[in-house]
Amino acid sequence: MVTSVAGMQQLAKSWQRKGVRVGFVPTMGYLHAGHMSLVKRARQMVGKSGKVVVSIYVNPTQFGPKEDLSRYPRDLKRDQQLCRAEGVDVLFVPSDQEMYPQNGIGAYSTYVVEETLSRGMEGVSRPTHFRGVTTIVAKLFNIVQPQVAVFGAKDFQQAAVVQRMVRDLNFPLKIVVAPTHREPDGLAMSSRNKYLSTDERQQALALSLAIKAAQQAVKSSKQSLAANKLRANLFKLISQHPAARVDYIEFFDPQTLQPVTQVSCGTQMALAVFVGRTRLIDNARL
Ligand code: AMP
Repeated sequence: MVTSVAGMQQLAKSWQRKGVRVGFVPTMGYLHAGHMSLVKRARQMVGKSGKVVVSIYVNPTQFGPKEDLSRYPRDLKRDQQLCRAEGVDVLFVPSDQEMYPQNGIGAYSTYVVEETLSRGMEGVSRPTHFRGVTTIVAKLFNIVQPQVAVFGAKDFQQAAVVQRMVRDLNFPLKIVVAPTHREPDGLAMSSRNKYLSTDERQQALALSLAIKAAQQAVKSSKQSLAANKLRANLFKLISQHPAARVDYIEFFDPQTLQPVTQVSCGTQMALAVFVGRTRLIDNARL
């Protein structure tokens, strides 16, 4: 485990000198099989002779003031075991003091902001979220200096925003987006699923059921569907789950993330739903 920025950068430099390829998986920890599928993908990308680095850092600047920063689940021991079992070479676990030194986050003043893809959906509900994400990911890229970084399609908009940042700022690395890993009943794996009570865990199926219903509607229709009508139907379906409250349901072009008024095969759907107090997101290609 490496905890200092200087230590990680030194390691990265020594690998670079030897021509060792580095695959990187940034996470906020409390690892699950979805994270580990990204680790496997990173290993595939760099091979046996390469190095796989996983970072665990619950980044304060991507949480809003009323969000779950302080109670975000953590279990470093278990995360270490999972990473060891999967053959991760280095676990990078910096402190807030390492990532935001010199008088802390309040005094931190350099941010990376993506101004187009980050505007809608999560950007509306969580106005400072992506600024925090792009800033921390840019910092981590400068610290770990990977040739490949793997992100999950579970956070579709995040992956798109990071890809755009890498393109626009000429980061010398490739972004790979790996598919969403799900529980057997369809719930997308997430560290936040830990917050759910037994009853809420059942009702959280509203998200994947809504996606399945939309996919079925697109499949069984010969023409494109009006987005508003489909959205209204999905609101109804989700409202059958009393603990569930829709934040947004969006249909959009998977490249531009621009909303569409007509939904057809290839349209991307994303939704955010509160289940009790827990905010869950999911998405899929229709
Ligand atoms: P997090 O720890 O939630 O910030 O996620 C770290 C990385 O893991 C991000 O790239 C996520 O998109 C990805 N991830 C989280 N959950 C899943 C999942 N169920 N399947 C695939 N990737 C995931």
